[in-house]
Amino acid sequence: MKTLIIKEQPLTEETLQRLNQIIHQGDLVVFPTETVYGIGGNALDEHAIAKIYAAKGRPSDNPLILHIAHEDMLSSIVEDVSEDAKALMRCFWPGPLTLVFKKKESISPRLTGGLDTVAVRFPNHPMARQIIATANVPLAAPSANLSGRPSSTLFEHVYEDLYGKVFALVDGGPSTLGLESTVLDVSGDVPVLLRPGSISADMIETVLQKPIIASQPTKADDVPKAPGMKYQHYQPRGTVKLFDGPESFMVQAMSEAIKQSKARNLAVIAVDEIASLLPACTLYPWGSLYDPETLAKRLYERLRNMDEGHHDEIIVHGLLEDPLSQAVMNRLEKAAHEIIKK
Ligand code: AMP
Ligand code: MG
Repeated sequence: MKTLIIKEQPLTEETLQRLNQIIHQGDLVVFPTETVYGIGGNALDEHAIAKIYAAKGRPSDNPLILHIAHEDMLSSIVEDVSEDAKALMRCFWPGPLTLVFKKKESISPRLTGGLDTVAVRFPNHPMARQIIATANVPLAAPSANLSGRPSSTLFEHVYEDLYGKVFALVDGGPSTLGLESTVLDVSGDVPVLLRPGSISADMIETVLQKPIIASQPTKADDVPKAPGMKYQHYQPRGTVKLFDGPESFMVQAMSEAIKQSKARNLAVIAVDEIASLLPACTLYPWGSLYDPETLAKRLYERLRNMDEGHHDEIIVHGLLEDPLSQAVMNRLEKAAHEIIKK
């Protein structure tokens, strides 16, 4: 398939109409959002849904998030919007919070991996909002990467994974946040945090004035609440060793590992404060330990750098305890082949 590449900013009316046509003929458009790039198709069209799973190579029990451009679009997707959900929407929409609701009968189970709930997000990116508003249907839009690969936060990533597999790629420059949305299930009495992100449990609890539940790790034989969380994710091709614990432990253990490594092409991803204490090595700087926004924004770029540099072993480390650093760690633990903890 020859893929149309769109680089204009802002999008012209003519381009928006072309994208609208592509979406309504059941084809796919990759577009930027403030979290990561999404691979979007008409959520009300079974063929488009099938194309998304095929293009990503995504397992069919891993449901998709529906993207809307105004709250009125919700009424055709979800059964009921609780008072908690309304309060969260007022505070955090448009933005990086995905809410899981009881789905309307009419929403295809292929979209929700057979669940009776549906995940919905209202992104806060001008291009995403214009594309969805012009199409005037919810777009199913999972992260625009091949399944198992790091999410795409730069246009190059999208191009590498999906050129030739979708109808159009829209370049919106680097993603502002770089980490996928927080996913919160509001379909029951007590909200459950299914995936951490830029909007923390604390921020949600402050709005709701009550505690929420942080989801338990899923056992392989359970039906997981957020099915996506059971899959291997974000993995570069080389072996990722993650060192976590007090800073002195990380520096000492990483230094030993660097000196003793038998790798052909070792790489280290480290924050400035740790990098300056390590022996000579091929280093990919991550940012400052005290700047979690930059660490979140650069994570997937650094993981993809590992493949570009043909690194067969990758050493990386833990971060501080603040919620955003911990959301980054949630992704990094999934990318790791080995976790060395103290
Ligand atoms: P992605 O679109 O690749 O960022 O992944 C979407 C995440 O949301 C995955 O972890 C999914 O399992 C999760 N998700 C989507 N729909 C639902 C749902 N109805 N219930 C629970 N989790 C969901
Ligand atoms: Mg994803």
